[in-house]
Amino acid sequence: MTTTLQTPLASCATIEPRELGILAEAGFRTAGDILMHLPRRHEDRRRFDGFDSLSGGAPVCLRVRVTDTGWKFIPKMRYFQADVEDSRGIPGARLSLKWFHMPYVGKIIATGQELVIYGKPKKYGSSYSIVNPEFEIIEQESAGLRLAEASLGGSLPPAPAAAEAPAGIHMERIVPVYPSISGIPARRLRTIVHTVVHSLPDDLPSPGYDIAPQYPYAQALRDIHFPAETPLVRKARMRFALAECFEQQLRILWKRHHSRRTPGQITATTSHLVQELAESLPFSLTEAQKRCVREIYRDMKQPHPMNRLVQGDVGSGKTMVALCAMLLAVESGKQAVLMAPTQILAEQHYNNFRRILAPLDVRLSLRTSDRRDDSHIDIEGPDDGEPKIIVGTHALLYEKNAPGNLGLAVIDEQHKFGVEQREKLVRRGNAPDVLVMTATPIPRTLTLTLYGDLDVSLVDELPKGRGEITTVLRPRKALDKIQTFLREQIEAGRQIYIVSPLIEENDKRKTASATAEYDYWQQQFPDISVGLLHGRMSPEEKDAVMQQYRNNETAILVATTVVEVGVDVPNATVMIINNAESYGLSQLHQLRGRIGRGEHRSWCILLSDAKAGDDNRRKLDVMCSTINGFEIAEEDFKLRGPGDVLGTAQSGFGRVRFMEWLSDTRLIHRGRDMATAILETDPGLNLPQHAPLRDLIADDSAEPTTS
Ligand code: ADP
Ligand code: MG
Repeated sequence: MTTTLQTPLASCATIEPRELGILAEAGFRTAGDILMHLPRRHEDRRRFDGFDSLSGGAPVCLRVRVTDTGWKFIPKMRYFQADVEDSRGIPGARLSLKWFHMPYVGKIIATGQELVIYGKPKKYGSSYSIVNPEFEIIEQESAGLRLAEASLGGSLPPAPAAAEAPAGIHMERIVPVYPSISGIPARRLRTIVHTVVHSLPDDLPSPGYDIAPQYPYAQALRDIHFPAETPLVRKARMRFALAECFEQQLRILWKRHHSRRTPGQITATTSHLVQELAESLPFSLTEAQKRCVREIYRDMKQPHPMNRLVQGDVGSGKTMVALCAMLLAVESGKQAVLMAPTQILAEQHYNNFRRILAPLDVRLSLRTSDRRDDSHIDIEGPDDGEPKIIVGTHALLYEKNAPGNLGLAVIDEQHKFGVEQREKLVRRGNAPDVLVMTATPIPRTLTLTLYGDLDVSLVDELPKGRGEITTVLRPRKALDKIQTFLREQIEAGRQIYIVSPLIEENDKRKTASATAEYDYWQQQFPDISVGLLHGRMSPEEKDAVMQQYRNNETAILVATTVVEVGVDVPNATVMIINNAESYGLSQLHQLRGRIGRGEHRSWCILLSDAKAGDDNRRKLDVMCSTINGFEIAEEDFKLRGPGDVLGTAQSGFGRVRFMEWLSDTRLIHRGRDMATAILETDPGLNLPQHAPLRDLIADDSAEPTTS
């Protein structure tokens, strides 16, 4: 029987039932499963590093002999130490290996043994040590090299009873090092993968559509696990990554292609209302705003649904773009809804629109229902039937009566919503136009994958006359000094935000809470009114507090991150963020985006005791060095990975193994080009050779896009 990716592990390698059980438990049942357990790295065990490389500061892979072992004691702890020398007998520096929290190591390492070790050396005086190195014990046997157990973090394995590995798997070659599977010794795992990958026939068909027939799939698998030379690992990874990019882009383009042919509504005809609006505004729209509105106008005139993303940094004026779009819909006789992620933001949009639209006589309504049974409905405008523009929160999704004539659905701060919520809103109408807005700037290739099925409009220009923002990092104890500065700002008429991570005091962590902060600031400024805003307040309370702050009746607003998204009070010039290290970079950027919205110079003060050198500190340094949302997002992706920044659930980041979201730019474009070419020649994917692609796009669960 030839092995395929579907062959059960039991039939393609000699594996004990006990091991099969462990593997199955860990999700490895077939040849394909285990082959997708990719090496973390490779070690070239034909050429070990010499002891002279210990001083280089980089991780080293050495072949050593143990000269002495023993337990060492330090206060409250003990560790196992093995002193080693170069096993080839080449004289060099003194090196000690130290294992903390791994008592089993002391039971298996003995003087005289030969080891392969990997880790990062540190210098102490004239000698070096490596803490918790990865290791494998080499046992010389007449049959050749045999390796005993070795893997960091695994439990002490029993002596393997299964067939011994042939020589040449663990030594004298480039060797894969796998993420450990608990219960399977590292070398056992390597032997199993070796057997499986070498039992594959050379002509093993590539699963799905073969994007690179000239590089056989089985060969690529061998290269990624047991490469003859190091560069082959990269070559194989690229092959697999390209397949992922291609599949992803094909799904996106398919979807895009089809949504463009779906019948929709014509939701724009003329643009008199937008003109009237523009004339009544105290400022003129930026060129970027105008361009976005033109792009939207063009889409809305089409009899197919618009699917457009408006991307723009905090404060770039996306709301105005959305409002123009909604007016276009209204003028064509349709209704428009705008869904915002928080009640505070929905109320702000509503009040804002109410003011701006007063001269235009457009019927407007607000729908929020933080309380289940008592939704807040407020209708403005002449009483001639249904409201034309409806602003609300998630409550919009659950109202009994959907708008009767919905032409446009706008989702503000779309990264705060799940895919389902967006679709649910869209389904409240009959193929309405869709406009999503986001302030998370992302690299263009990410846009292609994340929002590849959407057309993108960029608001890449801030309105003129904005005050500069200065960002500084201060330890918490500097608060006393900061107070003088705050008083000056308040006396000059400006306002201040103070953000704390928690609502209430938490004894275990020394984290500032909003309520404690509120008390503190009231004491510090007894003559100044201070407001408190957090998520557990009732909608009425929140609204009242926000209104007071907007009207500058309170000069200081102590808040949790409920103010993170969208809140717009141009007179606020200082943002103090407590425990700044506890936020992600993008979140800090959003918070900072609450200031610098007016003409006055603004300050963002990050309070943190994070020490220089740690990751948290690096984050804060980034904040101090730039206000460019694009740069910040890129740093955030580097620090946390795009999945964490943008939310795995909505982005499909979890679904790729080989592709690197940030660095595989060229592959993403190539994948897109390949997918485009196929769809151009065969738009319906009807050709027999495209059958595997039909399966691919039919598999909705693998949908990688956000819409
Ligand atoms: P965001 O893109 O973060 O959603 P907003 O839409 O809330 O930004 O706009 C931020 C502020 O800028 C608001 O106070 C808004 O009234 C103002 N604004 C919008 N467009 C302009 C413009 N063209 N000129 C001046 N101010 C503007
Ligand atoms: Mg906004």
